[in-house]
Amino acid sequence: MELLITGGAGYIGSHAAQRALADGHRVVVLDNLDRGHLGAVERLRARAGEQLRFVEGDFGDERLLERVFSENQFDAVLHFAALTYVGESVAQPVRYYQNNTGSAATLLEAVDAAGVERFIFSSTAATYGEPGPEHIPIRESCPQAPMNPYGRSKLATEHMLADLSEAKRRAGQPFAAAALRYFNVAGADRTGLLGEDHDPETHLIPVILQAALGRRDAVNIFGTDYDTPDGTCVRDYVHVEDLVDAHMAVMGDLDPDAEEGARRFRAFNLGIGRGYSVLEIIEAVREVTGASFTVREGERRPGDPPTLFADASKIAEELGWRASVTDLGEIIDSAWRWFKANPNGYS
Ligand code: UDP
Repeated sequence: MELLITGGAGYIGSHAAQRALADGHRVVVLDNLDRGHLGAVERLRARAGEQLRFVEGDFGDERLLERVFSENQFDAVLHFAALTYVGESVAQPVRYYQNNTGSAATLLEAVDAAGVERFIFSSTAATYGEPGPEHIPIRESCPQAPMNPYGRSKLATEHMLADLSEAKRRAGQPFAAAALRYFNVAGADRTGLLGEDHDPETHLIPVILQAALGRRDAVNIFGTDYDTPDGTCVRDYVHVEDLVDAHMAVMGDLDPDAEEGARRFRAFNLGIGRGYSVLEIIEAVREVTGASFTVREGERRPGDPPTLFADASKIAEELGWRASVTDLGEIIDSAWRWFKANPNGYS
């Protein structure tokens, strides 16, 4: 198939591009390189050659989209590009809505006009907000009540996509879409080509690995007084290669001609289905790396729910996908190899 991958120079998008190329798809990566890395695209191109094309630009740029969509006949769009920092979204909410919702509307207009039939959207467990204990593990039917502008900007795009799917179904036009609600994505490509490179890095596993490498003074635990078994927050960490594998499974199952509305727009949780606390992650990093580093107990970070982990049985039942890597040590080990081999990321 011919695929457009927005954000394909970023962490998850680049892994998806790699997987799509390995599966024999032709890929156009669209990325403005604001947070993505040209180095990731270059590494991919060194392997895939002409099968991969790169367009530098913004997914909200109407003219650019017109050109890209007129030059290619995409079978599917995989939309990864987004602003993804919760804290930043609280400080700059309009920027988040502008990008994650407004630019997504521009992209969907172009998708609609070009008659692209499949769309996969990177959504987030942040759309669930802070579910009560009765909703843990979290099913897709859990009420979506995001607690921050990031989650709201993503939820609005889910709604837009669902509404577009329904409008196109009623109009008798082929189109099917999925929103994939990611829990915490971690790890790196196990062939060593790609990994995680954020600036600033705020995610737990890379932060601890940077401390293990001596590139950071200490790890700060954001809160030790939560109502969880050890007082620290519990999250569901899914390996990035499993995550992109799920995208391929979903893409293969989208049915743009389905008669039922429920088949035209689907939402799936992507997680391993169990949670690990911050302390468990720190301990697992110590075991994998054998390194010693300083850990400080700090204040809670605003907006962090105590416990989030997925009930990922829907995608298992409907598509047969389940995470193949459920061992925390294995997830951390793949990230550790990446950070050791690429201490400066792609630069
Ligand atoms: N966390 C932490 N110290 C850090 C970074 C994260 O204690 O330096 C905690 C954070 O409060 C959350 C968990 O680790 O409970 C995962 O955070 P991350 O930012 O990786 O992902 P999020 O769950 O916010 O998407």
